[in-house]
Parts: sequence; C-alpha cells; structure tokens
Amino acid sequence: MNKKAIKDIDIKDKRVFIRVDFNVPIKDGKIEDDTRIRGAMPTIEYAIQQGSKVILASHLGRPLEDKKKAEENKMPFDESKYSLKPVYEYLRAMPQLQDISSRGDEPVFTNEQGTALGKAEVKNDKVFFANDCVGANVKERVNQLKAGEVLLLENLRLHAEEEANDDEFAKQLAELCEVYVNDAFGAAHRAHASTAGITKFVDTAVAGLLMEKELNFLSKALNNPERPFVAILGGAKVSDKIPVIESLIERKVDKLLIGGAMAYTFFKANGYTVGKSLVEEALMPKALEIEKMAKDKSVELILPTDHQVVDSYDPLNSRKTIPIEFTNKGLVGLDIGVETIEIFKRALEGAKTILWNGPVGMFEEKPFDEGTIAIAQAVAEATEKGATSIVGGGDSVAAINQAGLEDKISHISTGGGATLEFLSGDALPGVEALDEK
Ligand code: AMP
Repeated sequence: MNKKAIKDIDIKDKRVFIRVDFNVPIKDGKIEDDTRIRGAMPTIEYAIQQGSKVILASHLGRPLEDKKKAEENKMPFDESKYSLKPVYEYLRAMPQLQDISSRGDEPVFTNEQGTALGKAEVKNDKVFFANDCVGANVKERVNQLKAGEVLLLENLRLHAEEEANDDEFAKQLAELCEVYVNDAFGAAHRAHASTAGITKFVDTAVAGLLMEKELNFLSKALNNPERPFVAILGGAKVSDKIPVIESLIERKVDKLLIGGAMAYTFFKANGYTVGKSLVEEALMPKALEIEKMAKDKSVELILPTDHQVVDSYDPLNSRKTIPIEFTNKGLVGLDIGVETIEIFKRALEGAKTILWNGPVGMFEEKPFDEGTIAIAQAVAEATEKGATSIVGGGDSVAAINQAGLEDKISHISTGGGATLEFLSGDALPGVEALDEK
C-alpha cells in the first residue's frame, strides 16, 4: 500500500479521530451482526495501547433520506433508530474496553467518608458517548479525554453536510483531532466529509489496520493473484456488477462463476426461456458482449446448468429442481440446483485465490439459501486446501456466518460497494485522500 498507516506515525497522547464503519444492523436496540465492530477493534485497541485519546465516528443508515420518505408518505418516523447509542452500550460491555485497573481486588467505590463500599468488578469508565458529532459540547468533551479513553460520536449522517462533503462541517470534525485515521473501508468509496473532506483540514491522515488489511488482500487478488484464480459472482442485478465482471475478465481471472438472478440475463440473451425469473432485458446485449470478452481472454465463464424453481401460481408447494432448459414460462428460478453446486465445487478445486461476492439464490428465503450455503462450504473447503479466499458483500458474509465458517475464510471483507468499486479498478476517494508513504 502506498498510503501511510497508523503504525507509521506517532499517536501517543494525541487526539486521534478514527472514522470507523459501525453501520451495523440493529433491532430493538440490539446489534444483530457485529462483524464490522469486531473488524475495527484492532485499530481501536492499538490506539488505546499507544495512549491516544480516541474519538470514534461513523454513519448508521440513511436517517435524512428515510425521514424525507416517511414525511412524503405521511408515515411515522423514529429518529432514535439511527442513534449509535446501542453501539456505545456494546463497546462498553467489551472486556478489552473496560478499565482493567479497576477490576482488581482493590475496593474502588467509597462513600464520602472514604469508607470502602465493596469491590467493583468492573468500572466502565473508559468508553463515552457524545450526543452529536460536532459543536461546542462535543469539543469540550473531547478536550476532557484522557489517554486511553474512547469517545463515540453520534451518527455523522444526522447532518446533511456529511454526505454533501461540506467543507465547514469537515473542518469542525477536523478541529476535534490531531490525527485522522480512516478505518471505514465499507465507506471508502464515498467522498463524504468524514471520509474525504476532513483530510484537507488535518496535518496527518492515515489508514487504520482494517483499511490496510482490506486493501492488501484486495490489491493482491486484483494485481498479483496466485493462480488458479476463481471468482464467484451472484446477486440480483447484473447491472451492479458489470464493471467488476469486466475488470476481472480484463485481469484474466481463470474461472468466473455466475449464479443468482444475474445469470438469467445471460440465459435469456442466449435464447432460453427463463419464465418469471429476474431478467434485465436492457442488458442482454451486454451479457453477450461479456461472454465474447471472456472467450477472447480465455476466461472460463461458468453459468448454472440447473436451478430450483417454483410455479409462480403456487410458490409454496411447487418447488423442484430442473435443468435450465426445462424452464417454462410459469416458473421462477430462485436458487442454483444440485448439479450446479457440484459444478461450482469442482471449479473451486485446486484454486489458489477465490473471490466471492453475492448470493447464488434468494438467500433470505429458506430453502432458497441452500445453494449459497453450499458455496460458503465449498469456499471454506478450498481455503483449507490452500486457497486464499476473500468474501465480500452482505449476503455472502451472512451465509459464511450462518454456516459458522468465519474462521475458515482468509479474509471476510467489511465492504460491499467499496469492495466492488475497488475490484472494478476504481480509486476509492477515502483512500486517495490519505497521506502518501
Ligand atoms: P445484490 O445486492 O446484487 O448482491 O443482490 C442480493 C440479492 O439478490 C438478495 O436479496 C437475493 O435475494 C437476490 N437474489 C439472488 N438470486 C436470486 C434469484 N434467483 N431470484 C431473486 N432474487 C435473487
């Protein structure tokens, strides 16, 4: 990586602003998937160990857009759903963020006369929360921070200026710190105030450990992969993935497996009946172009041979697995079939680099998660046999987690859109803005 990283600079005693990606699913105040928080912990812990005063900032959802939509539809809007407070509670409960010095045998709590009242198990006084991300109160709170303490700021996107990359807002964020660290790989494809604008107003802007790790894995896969290099792409829309497909073919991935609804645009372009399966008609010529491009570059493009379908008139009782060419106009394809699973598995055998993004079926609806789970297992098996595997995108990562395979994948990327843009060969604004080595 040609960008400076947190370990290249001195952060001792400094106010360090870490842009993290805590955009996690939260339901009834509870965090449903903590992958992104865990991903940021090495950087946070490193900064604490170095004696920094740590300021954490993140976005969560799209509060302003959602509010506007709710108002337009005259629906109620609950702004509290966009608060990072549940993340604060989560961080406070993390053993590595608790004040270890107060966990010993010393009685910590005393009354006004100085009499010990009992032994405190844990004194959670290391992590704090600010109700906003800018303003006089936040500034004052930051100035009170001691070395090794952490202050989580409220959701950046409660201010429209964040996404507008507003200079004045970026400057206010910059004024909170002496060092800026970007560890939010998942937001690095956006030029927002906290990911890009802020770097104009700080002296030092570097990558965090997660950002560094993400970039190292992805750039190796993109520029210098160990071969055979096999990519698996799935998901709903081929339109979202065209730049990645082209970039992977251009860089001569050895095999490109395409599953999910995306595959139907290819089938229909080749004259197959795909029934009511999802197709992007306008992209059919592009699909043929991609097939030709793959052929010219000797990239093996592998599409499903069978699929799980339901009759659109009786979706609950009609599930069956059939060859693609047996599809009639009443059927809708929702997952890859058993034969395709075997073909994809075989294609992964002996792979040295594997890249997977996107589910190969309608993963959220059981039993149409079967194909995606089988791919998760196949990727884990190939990793055990020596492949370096990189998995990105919400559903593919969820499949890995659901199958309990997190430890069997070389790198689980925290980025969805950012991963795809990077693999398409695009520069990420949040990375570009960092100091050169
Ligand atoms: P993407 O955001 O493009 O990665 O697409 C993810 C979505 O694709 C998920 O919500 C899946 O349910 C959906 N998907 C994958 N395969 C199919 C399919 N055969 N039919 C309908 N939706 C699908």
